Amino acid sequence: MELKDIEKFANDNFNELVKLRRHFHMNPELSFKEVHTPAYIADYLRDLGLDVQEGVGGRGVVGKLIIDEKLPTVALRADFDALPIHDQKDVPYRSVVPGVMHACGHDAHTSVIMTAARILSENKDSLNGNVVFIFQHAEEVDPGGAIQMIADGCLDGVDAIFGQHVSTSLDIGTIGYKKGTATGMPDDFTVKIKGRGGHASKPDGAIDPLAAAISFCSQMQYAVTRKASPMEPVVLSITMFNGGHQHNVIPDEVEVGGTIRTFNKETQDIMIKELKKCLEGLVTITGISYDLDYMKGYPPVVNDDKKTDIVIQASDEVSTVDAIQSLEPDLGGEDFSYYLQRVPGTFYYTGVRNASFRADYPHHHGMFDIDEKGLINALSVMLRSVFIFFEEEASK
Ligand code: MN
Repeated sequence: MELKDIEKFANDNFNELVKLRRHFHMNPELSFKEVHTPAYIADYLRDLGLDVQEGVGGRGVVGKLIIDEKLPTVALRADFDALPIHDQKDVPYRSVVPGVMHACGHDAHTSVIMTAARILSENKDSLNGNVVFIFQHAEEVDPGGAIQMIADGCLDGVDAIFGQHVSTSLDIGTIGYKKGTATGMPDDFTVKIKGRGGHASKPDGAIDPLAAAISFCSQMQYAVTRKASPMEPVVLSITMFNGGHQHNVIPDEVEVGGTIRTFNKETQDIMIKELKKCLEGLVTITGISYDLDYMKGYPPVVNDDKKTDIVIQASDEVSTVDAIQSLEPDLGGEDFSYYLQRVPGTFYYTGVRNASFRADYPHHHGMFDIDEKGLINALSVMLRSVFIFFEEEASK
């Protein structure tokens, strides 16, 4: 196989891509509860003759195609967990598990890397390096599967890594990339504000946690606009506000929760400090007490410039890719960041939006679907990137 043949191989494997994607789409499994999915992947990789490890970092699967230990090694990563969302689509490949759905496209990611493993192992004579196929459990739920898989050695001997995410924000035919920082740090918090309940007509005899919680929400906006630098993006969304059940009763307790999303550690530290100061201030002023549970999210995805250039070049050479787009960073999270803290690599986005297939719903929606033709683009770009990487390493 040569570079020029890659598209043909990808196109010839369209049925395989669709078959695998639909199998996983129909049989989704939640994060940290994946059983059937990793077993299916491991069987598939063993049939290809790869060296396969199961239970990596818990539930991950790693397949290795080793040509020569002295040659460079590239890793390709897919995630395979689904979401607690009910599949609302009326299609033959709809999820058969009530309330569980591949609503983020991880089924597509897995089918692309499995098919890449098939094509590369069937053409291993043309490889100038080794390929490690990383199938990761639990991307959607902190602490995520990546950190565990890395601790268990999935990156040992790896020189570079590529990963991709399908996107219904991008039209079919588009590949999106971002050099440098691509995603933010999605932190979550829950705070229980504890007062002392009482009769609503005698608030002076109670400690009103609702009044304190309202102050907390508005005071936190002050942190966003007056304490964090205006040059650094920060999102604060209060998404939970639960307490009280009757008109004439001041409740004992209110629970407030939400998310704080930032791109850099300084801004993150400022927001955490302000959040604690705000709560301490309310203790002094109102007499409440509180329990704070602050959960830091994944670190930012920081893509390597040179590896991103490889994906740009690869995309440019794929005939069914008609647009290559530099993306703005976004404040979503992705634990591909942990791999990038260890080895240079890049995470790109494959357009799968096509309104005529109803593939234009946002991710994490019960109607989410993709134009499966995008699988060919994702695979072609991935395979070309492997070959370009090996060529570049060989010419060093
Ligand atoms: Mn995802």
